Amino acid sequence: MKIYFYILLLVFSSCSNNNDKEEFSIIIYKLQLPICHELRSPVPSNYYDAQPFRENQHLGSDLNAPTGGNSDLGEPFFSIGEGKVTLAKNIGGGWGNVIIIKHLLKDGGEIESLYGHADEIYVKEGDFVSIGDVIGVIGNNGGMYYAHLHFEIRKTATNIIGGGYSPDISNHYDPTEFILNY
Ligand SMILES: [Zn+2]
Repeated sequence: MKIYFYILLLVFSSCSNNNDKEEFSIIIYKLQLPICHELRSPVPSNYYDAQPFRENQHLGSDLNAPTGGNSDLGEPFFSIGEGKVTLAKNIGGGWGNVIIIKHLLKDGGEIESLYGHADEIYVKEGDFVSIGDVIGVIGNNGGMYYAHLHFEIRKTATNIIGGGYSPDISNHYDPTEFILNY
């Protein structure tokens, strides 16, 4: 597959038109990101949302095992779809370990999924992941909260972390609804 791309790249790089080159580099970039034909919740279906999207200006969902408390500490969470990891590190503050994955949608658009407060991260920046891959385990950011997965879906792939709360939801989808309706 890779050889095929390189051949295409050679053909197109011989074009004199800069616009063609630019367009082609976008195509190549998008080919590197597999299309999400399906999206799936990052947690098992019996988990509940302790702080839904927009409650207290929350920009995500706080996903918890039905047993509550810290019972889900160390439980796995999953990539919602095919994608590329663009951030995977401890950024401190109220976030702790965060993973951001960029996804290419069926309509050609891109979104980011974000997974916060992980106890452990199993992926690194640049990794390609498949739907359902275990990418980390649920954490409590060093005891700052009861363990939960803070989960967001962002409309544009900016790779900027920002805050988990804001009155401005212009860059966010309701994550649960987005997955249900995809
Ligand atoms: Zn949260």
